[in-house]
Amino acid sequence: MSAVDDLPPLRDVIRVHELAAKKSLGQNFLLDLNLTSKIARSSGPLEGVTVIEVGPGPGGLTRALLAGGAARVIAVERDERCLPALAEIQARYPGRLVVIAGDALEADWPALAAEHRASPASPVRVVANLPYNIGTVLLTNWIEAEPWPPFFESLTLMFQREVAERIVATTDNRVDYGRLGVLCGWRTEAEILFDVPPSAFTPPPKVTSSVVRLVPRPALLSCRTQDLAAVTAAAFGQRRKMLRQSLKALVRDPAPLLDAAGLDPTARAETVPVEGFVTLARLWREMRDRD
Ligand code: SAM
Repeated sequence: MSAVDDLPPLRDVIRVHELAAKKSLGQNFLLDLNLTSKIARSSGPLEGVTVIEVGPGPGGLTRALLAGGAARVIAVERDERCLPALAEIQARYPGRLVVIAGDALEADWPALAAEHRASPASPVRVVANLPYNIGTVLLTNWIEAEPWPPFFESLTLMFQREVAERIVATTDNRVDYGRLGVLCGWRTEAEILFDVPPSAFTPPPKVTSSVVRLVPRPALLSCRTQDLAAVTAAAFGQRRKMLRQSLKALVRDPAPLLDAAGLDPTARAETVPVEGFVTLARLWREMRDRD
């Protein structure tokens, strides 16, 4: 029996169900239920909440979420080998765990949330120890979602520390500040909650991980996500160049655009705050609509 519930310890679950970790699926399992409970709690009080979890694997975080009081967990897992272990958790928590066997990259999250949430009033949160190989793609999709504010009230996610630093970066952390920092800073309050050492995982990854929480808020200024993505791709694609040069990937002569946005043409992308990129994205769209 384990500390949080009367299910077998995760080490036994992995042995019995022969869940040898697969690198191709980004499998680094958390077997310490005290740690998974800490992650579950770090998303906030769980009573009445519906949690979407990507990649439950053998179920360490899933169990902590359910034991911590989540009204329902909707878990999307691609590795069919994990399904029998997840069925045992379903039996322990009747009606509270929905397992979707499939690829998280193909999931229609708002539809899953609408179909399976505990009740129409139940807030939805995303909590996951993400497979590293698809973590930033999933995050980008969630933050680029329309309409905004989105269907979830927060994202509490494990990333490699280096990715976590890029998510929360601003012009104060120029080395890490880039497309991801602009996107997340535009629509969310993002913070690193705590680090998790490699030794906490089975097998241990090469680098330290961090749990990040992102809370949506109304965008600072509105623009189209695809325009912001194009502007930041151009500016940070050549981050050592001045904007008057790097934005040539976008427009033949960036000078009028930079002038209208009130930005110094000799500035580099890493010194431009989020509002500057959003203004560029809006003006670029207006220019094209006029032409
Ligand atoms: N939540 C478990 C834990 O904390 O121990 C496992 C986390 S492990 C880092 C990532 C999990 O995501 C694995 O169970 C893996 O099979 C699953 N996974 C990988 N790619 C996936 C995908 N495209 N869709 C859904 N699940 C995926």
